[in-house]
Amino acid sequence: ELPKELPKELPKEPPKEQLKDHPQEQPKWHYVPQRVFFEEEALAYPLGQQIVALCRELGLPTRQIPSHNRVTGLPGDTPNQKYAQAKKTLVVGVKRDLRFPTCRPSADYQFPLMTSCPGHCEYCYLQTTLGQRPYLRVYVNVEEMLDQAAKYIEKNAPEVTTFEVASSGDPLSVEHLTGSLFKTIEFFGSQELGRLRFVTKFTGVEPLLNARHNGHTRFRFSLNSERVVRDFEHRTPPVAERIAAAAQVARAGYPLGFIIAPIMVYPGWEEDYLRLFDQLKKELASIQPLSPPVTFELIQHRFTARAKKVILERFPESRLDMDEEKRKFKYGKYGMGKYVYPDETAKGMKDLLQTALLERFPDAEVEYFT
Ligand code: SF4
Repeated sequence: ELPKELPKELPKEPPKEQLKDHPQEQPKWHYVPQRVFFEEEALAYPLGQQIVALCRELGLPTRQIPSHNRVTGLPGDTPNQKYAQAKKTLVVGVKRDLRFPTCRPSADYQFPLMTSCPGHCEYCYLQTTLGQRPYLRVYVNVEEMLDQAAKYIEKNAPEVTTFEVASSGDPLSVEHLTGSLFKTIEFFGSQELGRLRFVTKFTGVEPLLNARHNGHTRFRFSLNSERVVRDFEHRTPPVAERIAAAAQVARAGYPLGFIIAPIMVYPGWEEDYLRLFDQLKKELASIQPLSPPVTFELIQHRFTARAKKVILERFPESRLDMDEEKRKFKYGKYGMGKYVYPDETAKGMKDLLQTALLERFPDAEVEYFT
């Protein structure tokens, strides 16, 4: 019998002896939170109870909180420590607002099963979009979200409606805790006019290989040059492991895609990106032809004034190039703007990378460069 209520406070001393052996037993990139907070309502859902049971099994400290939007009392004094502690915190909640925002250019709508991820990528746009809520959050009312998606699909018929799961986090990074992505993939597999897509840097693809996806989910991996990964994508799997996971997914018949982002200019960047594409070609050679054709999305590095401030608070030693003088200011919505590479650099980037990709993957579709 699992509890309908949890303590309002964390135990003073987490049961360390139970936690001790756990991470070693798990595949390297399986995220294990250090504390798990539950909204009271989440305990009424089977997935909420499943996560409570898992916490008990792993000896993770749990606590009940009034709202998944108000998480207070996390340890840490500096912004850097607070960020790191938030990333060790899992919040289990109920998604109440079931209006799905639009999601251009990658899909019609967002489908936010969760937010954040265990990674510490310095440049991540969630640094600002999640603001003071970088903790990981999963929603337990997946069925309600899927019912809602079905309504969107029906309303849009006979057009195909596409949903993006990764607009607010990395859904694969918590799949071993929830199983929600599997359920969502199978739901979309059954929808004639519904399509799903998501992008990940994580590699725990095994539980999804047997899902009845029916070719309706495009599984994309985020890749970058070795140097960008090493310098800025902390606590994420290496590129070689991401590519190996991509090959597994392609063998399981999923439509495959890659997001090359954020593309950065530094001495030797051209060679580094071309080396990445060669590596990708070599790994995927045995599963040619990839059907349907593999897609690529190319996104140059950009930053906003607000992002720069948050990034430098959380990563005071950051070597990210955020020199406004070397960038072009591009006006955006609501007077907010971002710094992108100057037109000539961006064009050179686009031409070089697009040509290099199409040489190596002649059937591929380069969906956009932005
Ligand atoms: Fe952000 Fe993706 Fe890195 Fe997570 S893995 S920090 S979502 S860029």
